[in-house]
Amino acid sequence: MILGIDLGTTNTAAAIIKDGNPIYVSTGNPKHDFLLPSVVAYIDNGEFLVGHKAIELLSTHPESVIKSIKSIIGTNQEAPLRNMRTKNQEIFTSVEISAQILGEIKRLAEKQFKTSIDKAVITVPAYFNDRARKDTIKAGELAGLEVMRILNEPTAAALTYGTEHKTSKKKHIMVYDLGGGTFDTSIIELNGDVVEVIASDGDRNLGGDNFDYALFSYIYGVLHGESNPNVKNLKAMATILSKAEETKNKLSSAAKHKIEIKSLKFEETIYREDFEKLIADLLKKTLNHCKTVIAKSKLKNTDIEKILLVGGSSRVPAVKDMLEEELCIPVSQEIDPDLAVVIGAAIQSAIIEGQKVSSVLLDVAPHSLSVSCVLEKNGKTINNYCNKLIKKNTPIPCTIEEVFSTLNDNQDSVKVAIYQGESDFEEGNALIKELKFDGIKKRKAGETEIMVRFSYKLDGTIDIQVAEEGTQNMSTQTLKLLNKRAATEPSVVIH
Ligand code: AMP
Repeated sequence: MILGIDLGTTNTAAAIIKDGNPIYVSTGNPKHDFLLPSVVAYIDNGEFLVGHKAIELLSTHPESVIKSIKSIIGTNQEAPLRNMRTKNQEIFTSVEISAQILGEIKRLAEKQFKTSIDKAVITVPAYFNDRARKDTIKAGELAGLEVMRILNEPTAAALTYGTEHKTSKKKHIMVYDLGGGTFDTSIIELNGDVVEVIASDGDRNLGGDNFDYALFSYIYGVLHGESNPNVKNLKAMATILSKAEETKNKLSSAAKHKIEIKSLKFEETIYREDFEKLIADLLKKTLNHCKTVIAKSKLKNTDIEKILLVGGSSRVPAVKDMLEEELCIPVSQEIDPDLAVVIGAAIQSAIIEGQKVSSVLLDVAPHSLSVSCVLEKNGKTINNYCNKLIKKNTPIPCTIEEVFSTLNDNQDSVKVAIYQGESDFEEGNALIKELKFDGIKKRKAGETEIMVRFSYKLDGTIDIQVAEEGTQNMSTQTLKLLNKRAATEPSVVIH
């Protein structure tokens, strides 16, 4: 078995293709089961933890935790943990730390697939130089994996997104990959069987982490961090940074988010527009790289058929808006941006294994799933509006959340009515479940935020979580949808 691995700056994922379907390695990460945070924490006895268990140590032992090691692999820079030593008193290198992450994903895959795995395809950014590629191979070997192929991430994404390259006509697409620590954009030429990166550009120090720092600086400024000893210490700063990331992620699906840091007596509601202003210059930088890569490719914008969004930070809604507005190229968001690269790595692994990867089925949601609400738009109130959380044909598994606010003063319960169908209104859709969520704190209309999260799983079940923001009040239910598309029916076909 050859494992396809996306060794990411923030998260690492692995998958294989079986009977034409991608099977992802489950990591036990409570936020996204298929993503292993690329984080390693070192504990006193020379042992280390990888993934979300390592993240848990960030707030208590930030000095023992290493993140974003990929951003220095293949460079002369040393890993930032100077005091972390192996048992032989050697400082860990970026290759060794990467090997610890690869070793963990290999272990999880072996446990899940009940077989030993000693071969892998690993993806790297297109701009990685020879040394960074060789170091990635070394890390694989150190983890007990023979690296069968190093695959460029944008090529992997292109493999996932389309069979369209099986065309006699040459065409071009752009990959916009905005991860946690890096930004990478490429122009791919699809011509018959050949998928080729013809130009790439990017920045190894630009990504979602910078968005977090922008919000961090804002909060730090409000708290007068420079002159406030309660704020200017490692633990408080780690707390602010983690709240900043949480807020950023919430603002991808909600128009506003209330930040509460009780230990620092900080409470403020941030609106999406405010956040967009804070990151405007960073987004502009990514746009300039896109313009550069188009110039490098010697193509015109109109020669580029579409832009594929890859990487967790491409979920920020301003990204799509900016690209469509400024480049006038349609943006495609059909595939979970966190899984686009790993599916490509798995496809490449399957091809090397000799599997007939004539079509890979990505199971999709057969109908849209909405929450009924009252929509306020341009000063008008629209009742019985179905807000689609999961749109028809969204590849599954997927997790999508949206934040709603209360309509009336002192409202202490909400009804969450879930509809299936394509209409924008209740009348045209089928009601599949009504949940009552009560015990919410009485406040003025619009002040209470209720998060609704749908996690659509491969077995056709949907976990629904309803939670009152900023409190422990939460309810979870699982729905089984009977009319899920038959697993054999292709929806997105990759040849
Ligand atoms: P990646 O390196 O592709 O794994 O992307 C990780 C980055 O995506 C991190 O900076 C995350 O905070 C960010 N991210 C994940 N989910 C979201 C979201 N919903 N909105 C904005 N950024 C996100």
